[in-house]
Amino acid sequence: MKARSHLDCCQAPALERLRVLDESTHDLEAVMRCTACGSYWFYRFLEYVNWAGGDDDLTSWFAPLTEAEGTNLLEAADRSAMDLSFLTTRASWMDDNEGVRRVPGLPGYR
Ligand SMILES: [Zn+2]
Repeated sequence: MKARSHLDCCQAPALERLRVLDESTHDLEAVMRCTACGSYWFYRFLEYVNWAGGDDDLTSWFAPLTEAEGTNLLEAADRSAMDLSFLTTRASWMDDNEGVRRVPGLPGYR
């Protein structure tokens, strides 16, 4: 996977996908890890289909995880055993049609 310059775990981030937590046509959640520095990231991708016409809105988030959080998500039995509520207040990177920016948390994990 190519480096993503906005990720800030180290000088040359290169993420590999360790575990897909949930995947559907328009939605993906995964635990990622940087092969350069070992940092864990939570990745979420959402596609908002624009039914009114025009471009669909592709949005992705990268939320930094502590090593303990990353390990917990890798060891959890399944998606329903994971407590992801901490993502609500985790400062993250959001990337959509308007570009990359910092956000104070991820939507949808309350
Ligand atoms: Zn890194």
